[in-house]
Amino acid sequence: MTRKQNNKPMDKLVSLCKRRGFIFQSSEIYGGITSCWDYGPLGVELKRNIKNIWWHDIVTSRANVVGMDSSILMHPKVWEASGHVEYFHDPLIDCKNCKYRFREDKAVHSFKCSSCPFNFKINNGKIEVNDEFEKHFGGDLFAGEPETYKNSDCPNCGGVGTVKLERLNCPKCGSSELSPPRQFNLMFKTHFGASEESATEVYLRPETAQGIFVNFDNIVTTARAKLPFGIGQIGKAFRNEIVTGNFIFRSREFEQMELEFFVKSEESAKWYKYWVNERFDWYKRLGVRSDYLRLRQHAKEELAHYAKSCTDIEYRFPFGWSELEGIADRQTFDLDQHIKASGKKLSYFDSLSNNHIIPGVIESSAGVDRTMLTILTDAYWEDDEHDRVVLRLIPKVAPIKVVVLPLVNRDGMPEIAKAIFDDLRKHMAAFYDQGGSIGRRYRRQDEAGTPFGITVDSQTLEDGTVTLRDRDSLEQIRISKDNAVKVLQEKLAL
Ligand code: ATP
Repeated sequence: MTRKQNNKPMDKLVSLCKRRGFIFQSSEIYGGITSCWDYGPLGVELKRNIKNIWWHDIVTSRANVVGMDSSILMHPKVWEASGHVEYFHDPLIDCKNCKYRFREDKAVHSFKCSSCPFNFKINNGKIEVNDEFEKHFGGDLFAGEPETYKNSDCPNCGGVGTVKLERLNCPKCGSSELSPPRQFNLMFKTHFGASEESATEVYLRPETAQGIFVNFDNIVTTARAKLPFGIGQIGKAFRNEIVTGNFIFRSREFEQMELEFFVKSEESAKWYKYWVNERFDWYKRLGVRSDYLRLRQHAKEELAHYAKSCTDIEYRFPFGWSELEGIADRQTFDLDQHIKASGKKLSYFDSLSNNHIIPGVIESSAGVDRTMLTILTDAYWEDDEHDRVVLRLIPKVAPIKVVVLPLVNRDGMPEIAKAIFDDLRKHMAAFYDQGGSIGRRYRRQDEAGTPFGITVDSQTLEDGTVTLRDRDSLEQIRISKDNAVKVLQEKLAL
């Protein structure tokens, strides 16, 4: 079986997700709200399965990882210490030529009057004079914010609002090949307190990780953790993204699955490598095709100043290779920052060296929604041979594991089917459907990604056997209805 490449695969997936109850646009009856999504009955199960698998694989199955759940609203000082207030604040521009990253206001701004030859540049807070300018005003003038010159009146010809921003150039290499400014003030603000005026400004967290760092000491003490050890957390994060889109790939409210794995600094390279491999394999174990996954190591100039190394795990979406997760060696940066800002001791007592040390940290930061989009995109299959659309989800992530169907709505078949369904749903996510033709009912479940179907037919009335249908191969075998739970448990390896 081959998977067909669609013309507009994302549109088809979005429509299937809506049709089958995976994902709806938020507040749809009011026209929707951009980049917010609601997960319907099937979506919430799929999402929960992803989170449960992560929690099992990363937290509970490991002797040296514990979990936590920190609050979304935290002390504003957390975000000062973490650097988010400072570095998530301004629009940043990347120079495509020399890779220099700078704040938009640091770019060389060229202004020009649209009705006379008057022009000037603002470079590093100073007005760069030229002949035209000097003739009127002399030289070496300090400029205000470049922003204030946009559409200002021309001091030369008196044109009203005729001074326009002509272009931006890189302050380092002068190139005009620049990325659009990216707003780094990504944090949503809200207020603690009765009235907005008297209230304290707080932020909706833009990542879950800081909740882990600020609880470092609490967890080391109470969990009696010994290096190397990890703390995992799943939770909502919020970013006031400027550019959103590609369905649930980039939204303003999303969920993260983050692990902070603390290590002795001298062992960080070893653990970094370990987690890059572990996490890459994790997506393959979720059934994602390995040739649609790749690792992308960040180049030196791309790295944040505190990160020693960083690798993204990327998936080949219909809109191009895009990040699913970042794994970074953040060294002691986060703990150091919180030690400095809070004045508290966030160290670890190393009994071997009889010394208090600040551990380094390897971070694995993955998105629940992006993982879900990956799984859905990868599983989407148009089976032209049988004129159906199938979500080839592995049983572990499939929202419904088995559907139970009476072939027809009479002769006692619905009663038998319901009894089987009642039995099955005690053990696994099952669904009962007696509406419409059997073919239509199968197709609905193929689109929902349900791996197995049990059908009660006339032979069931004679010998107590039912058919068990495999979603992908369409193979049907007969099993005793009394063995349904056992057979399915084996097939699903639950
Ligand atoms: P991008 O470059 O795509 O904006 P990022 O590098 O800013 O991502 P991180 O800060 O490393 O992302 O966040 C870790 C993970 O959280 C991402 O790999 C992604 O899976 C998820 N994530 C981040 N921002 C969003 C978003 N706006 N919508 C959905 N998931 C997100």
